[in-house]
Amino acid sequence: MNAELRAELRARFGKLVTFDVPLARFTTFRIGGPAAALLDPQRPEDVAAALCMCEDLGLPWLALGLGSNLLAPDEGFHGLVIRLGKGVGATKRAGPEGTLWTVGAGLPTPLLARRSAVAGVGGVNRLVGVPGTVGGGVFMNAGAHGQEFRDVVRWVDLVAPTGVLSRVDASNIDWQYRSSGLEGIVVAVQLQLEPEDPASLQAALRRHLKRRKAGTPFDRPCCGSVFRNPDAGTVPERAAQFAEPLTAGKLIDAAGLKGFRVGGAEVSTMHGNYIVNTRGASASDVLAVIEAVREQVLERFGVTLRLEVKLIGPGDAKGFYG
Ligand SMILES: Cc1cc2nc3c(=O)[nH]c(=O)nc-3n(C[C@H](O)[C@H](O)[C@H](O)COP(=O)(O)OP(=O)(O)OC[C@H]3O[C@@H](n4cnc5c(N)ncnc54)[C@H](O)[C@@H]3O)c2cc1C
Repeated sequence: MNAELRAELRARFGKLVTFDVPLARFTTFRIGGPAAALLDPQRPEDVAAALCMCEDLGLPWLALGLGSNLLAPDEGFHGLVIRLGKGVGATKRAGPEGTLWTVGAGLPTPLLARRSAVAGVGGVNRLVGVPGTVGGGVFMNAGAHGQEFRDVVRWVDLVAPTGVLSRVDASNIDWQYRSSGLEGIVVAVQLQLEPEDPASLQAALRRHLKRRKAGTPFDRPCCGSVFRNPDAGTVPERAAQFAEPLTAGKLIDAAGLKGFRVGGAEVSTMHGNYIVNTRGASASDVLAVIEAVREQVLERFGVTLRLEVKLIGPGDAKGFYG
């Protein structure tokens, strides 16, 4: 990024923008080269102004939450990373029995799960083990243990790539498995939760967290599930031997790939659909593991694994590919 652009960003956003910040600091994989510029917005209007500026200057941008579902490139990101955190993470309750929650995109989902359980409103308590932001969660339609964001979202405040902020009704969102199809940056959402007994909600939350910790490498640097589970009905004959439901983890395990590694990246020995950064892994190490796993699973079982993790390009204008 040239000096003129940096000066322009500094003039517009002051100390909210920093330069040459390693993305490894902001991803759960602990991988990623420097972001040329990183913005810490304090209001939805900052996000709108940033996207407007990117549109005018042809500057690539990337929305970042807690970086728990992406692989950032070793060479870094050449444009502006807009990191939605505390500045846009406020929560407001309204409606009968306090069941309507308006939540800023930067609020961590585990915090939302805990607060709502304590308040005695259900719908998101089982998402306690999804270590991202609410904005990233809605964008990805994150889900766990039978709960998904699409079941509770009423509307989304979205800044379009042009910088225009508008409210999108949930019925106009193309919800799919781990995808919302939204284009732009989610800055706030309203959730419709349901009154429930706080003690039962909290007990369920603890149970799900315990299960999660026992079955996945929860405390290792990773990005959650790397691959999507194959769609039912698309499973070839060669994979018919597996008990339903067929998961990516089962295929990877059966291919003998647990523990397979390239450099510092390793297929978790605990759960086949996780790749962990054992020590100093690069994005290219992870990509090499991904390629090897896809090849092996295709060769052994005839199943093409599709990615769940978002692969970030060094300057893709839409913010991601993959
Ligand atoms: C240990 C572990 C366990 C996990 N378990 C689960 C699970 O059970 N279920 C599940 O669904 N996921 C799971 N994940 C994946 C991840 O936590 C979720 O997808 C999460 O919702 C991503 O949120 P984030 O804020 O970290 O997004 P990021 O990783 O920062 O971004 C992910 C994608 O969303 C985009 N994005 C981020 N914020 C916004 C925004 N405000 N507006 C528009 N786009 C945005 C990014 O550009 C990127 O394309 C797990 C991850 C880990 C590391």
